[in-house]
Amino acid sequence: MMGLMQDVPLTVDRILDHAAAWHGQREIVSRAADGQVSRSNYAVIRANAKRVSNALAAAGIRHGDRVATLGWNSTRHLAAWYGTAGMGAILHTLNPRLYLEQIAYIANHAGDRLLFADPACADIVGALLREVPAIEAVIFFCDRDGLPGSTFPAIAFDDWISGHPAEFAWGGFDERTACGLCYTSGTTGNPKGVLYSHRSNSLHALMTLQRDALALSARDSILLVVPMYHANGWGAVFSAPAVGAKLVLPGQRMDGESIYNLIEAEAVTYSAAVPTVWQMLLQYVQAHGLGFSTLERVTIGGSACPESIVRTFRDDYRVDVIHGWGMTETSPLATVSVPNASVARLSDDEQIRFKLKQGRLLCGLEFKLVDDDGNRLPHDGRTPGRLMIRGPTIASGYFRGEQAEVLDAEGFFDTGDISTIDSEGYMQITDRAKDVVKSGGEWISSIEIENIAMGHPAVQLAAVVGVAHPKWDERPVLLCQLRQGMTAGASDLRDHLAGRIAKWWMPDDIIFVSEIPLGPTGKIDKRAIRASLQGYALPFRAAD
Ligand code: ADP
Repeated sequence: MMGLMQDVPLTVDRILDHAAAWHGQREIVSRAADGQVSRSNYAVIRANAKRVSNALAAAGIRHGDRVATLGWNSTRHLAAWYGTAGMGAILHTLNPRLYLEQIAYIANHAGDRLLFADPACADIVGALLREVPAIEAVIFFCDRDGLPGSTFPAIAFDDWISGHPAEFAWGGFDERTACGLCYTSGTTGNPKGVLYSHRSNSLHALMTLQRDALALSARDSILLVVPMYHANGWGAVFSAPAVGAKLVLPGQRMDGESIYNLIEAEAVTYSAAVPTVWQMLLQYVQAHGLGFSTLERVTIGGSACPESIVRTFRDDYRVDVIHGWGMTETSPLATVSVPNASVARLSDDEQIRFKLKQGRLLCGLEFKLVDDDGNRLPHDGRTPGRLMIRGPTIASGYFRGEQAEVLDAEGFFDTGDISTIDSEGYMQITDRAKDVVKSGGEWISSIEIENIAMGHPAVQLAAVVGVAHPKWDERPVLLCQLRQGMTAGASDLRDHLAGRIAKWWMPDDIIFVSEIPLGPTGKIDKRAIRASLQGYALPFRAAD
């Protein structure tokens, strides 16, 4: 027997409809590349998004067509987003920080027909158009005065939508219809397209809003540092309007000073970003003896969260860190490290041990840990295994899937992460499968050594990679980037690590570099590090 409740499809246009109807005047603030701040609200964004739908329809864009964006977080980007998805086309976010060849590969693979772009990306767009012939038109996120000089026909967004009505019949299609397309950044081979559905994005928004997840509310002022092209800005493109939070969109500039000024000027209470952004912010705040007037909590994810960041935020600024884990394929948020009832009873210091783990599953998702043969492993907090995940916000395959089968026999997706799960249900990533250092048949967690090394006061950034070894297969090598004006030697780092890691985990070499390479989403680029270490030989150790 079927239930007797209304069968209303979960499509994302309903989220913006809700925001415009019930939080219509709630502000959305956008900062342009030149630092100029403009103000809008949910009612205006919805009206502009409807104009976008009309303009897209007039340009011949139909249900299921891919429409790309290449830009930073801005109000026009948001309007393009909902205007595209609302009419049943697919909003495809391109990452401007990728190499041109990668962007071209992705745009060709996706079959993008139209491109919205930031004026700051005009050079990339010019080169891209030569590589991606299917793109029919380029619309720049600006008014007529802001149009960049270009050798190709370009239209200003404001001109393009003006004259189109602010009404358009959104939705009315199956909730499983494709809504957005986002390619993984390709740290593991060719980029692969994750095709979100309206249903998966709507459910993800509801799941992340729970109090034991990100706990966003109408009273929050959210600074969305994480780019919208990075897995839907970790879902905030949907979750912020769902609750009617104020949204602050910072554009391109992510340095400590720019972020700090926005936080203070816009009374920001919550923000989300990768650890490197927080490190830059904290350094700026510390160097200038500043504090936060309104900031209450920050989500840190994308890479493991160093303990020093959690402690500095908590002890010096009374800001709570919410450590989360996920990937493009998981919409992205899947676990959040907030205290459950038993962890909440522990002392503050003991709680940090759990906060540094990647956390507990959001309701609706399932986990398992398996060995290389697919056998389940115990959740004892000690045994590392391949992390497998299942649920309505998890990818079941890739766009034009080259790898036809990405799920195991039980329908679980292989995250490519190695982790443990403890008896309280807290998952901890110990490595990515391809980054794990395999020494003498045992696994060494590169992430754990990095985190401890970053606890040394002179270390700004640390990275561990495995280097081939004749006896042990691989041994860890630690690269350190020191803080400006600080000094430390290999023996200082060894003393710092000793006693905090198993003896056999001690890196065989510690190399100081001026800069550890970061990938396009701000994560340490281990592929580049490995490439830079080609031809490198481990120092000889008599004991070997
Ligand atoms: P890519 O796979 O291209 O790097 P994603 O943004 O999808 O792009 O990255 C997801 C991966 O990032 C995860 O599989 C995991 O390895 C890593 N990751 C994400 N959040 C965390 C975290 N809190 N701690 C450690 N690793 C994380």
